[in-house]
Amino acid sequence: MSTIAENLQAVVDRIGAAATQAGRRADEVQLLAVSKTFGPEAVLAAVRAGQSRFGENYLQEALDKIVALAGQGIEWHFIGPVQSNKTRPIAENFAWVHSVERLKIAQRLSEQRPAALGPLNICLQVNVSGEQTKSGCAPAELPELARAVAALPGVRLRGLMAIPEPAADEEQQRVPFRQLRALYDALRADGLDLDTLSMGMSGDMDAAIKEGATIVRVGSAIFGARTYKQT
Ligand SMILES: *Cc1c(COP(=O)(O)O)cnc(C)c1O
Repeated sequence: MSTIAENLQAVVDRIGAAATQAGRRADEVQLLAVSKTFGPEAVLAAVRAGQSRFGENYLQEALDKIVALAGQGIEWHFIGPVQSNKTRPIAENFAWVHSVERLKIAQRLSEQRPAALGPLNICLQVNVSGEQTKSGCAPAELPELARAVAALPGVRLRGLMAIPEPAADEEQQRVPFRQLRALYDALRADGLDLDTLSMGMSGDMDAAIKEGATIVRVGSAIFGARTYKQT
């Protein structure tokens, strides 16, 4: 079995290759290592291999790791569903939230963000492919939501995020990413100051990078397969 350091290097190389193919620079694409279900020792192995940005989905699990790894210089991103009664610890402990889909959540994060930390970086999650089961705001609601969130003082709207359904090949994978990119371009053309497209995971990061991803969120390709056990 390969080590976390080897996996991380392979992912970094894969990002570089996809960026080159797309005529982009590798440093236009940031790697967010998704460490959900893996313990602090796995995160530390990635930190020692040079990774500094980590994404977490489950609040309590994330807070345990944030405490255990304090002082390691890690930038923590919350990428899971945000419940309205859990916004305060998110506002107090993370640098970014990728998964905001309602104004009420953004308002709470803005109010609860400690001033000393500076604005919380926010992406709006969009349900590009219109799946019933998936979270994210509808594309038609996005312009109004984006304008309202951009006006909040305690958060900084950075861009958009999506989690499309898995698709068989790269051409199909690119379709929803292209749609998210078009929504992003439209908001920018409308005057919103955005710089982030958070899209692409282990199985589809190459397609996402070719459609303009600026952050890819990669878990299993770095840490291995996840086993979900409730503790
Ligand atoms: C788990 C997760 C990822 C990483 O998925 P992999 O397929 O393991 O790379 C990325 N984004 C979100 C929102 C996730 O929940």
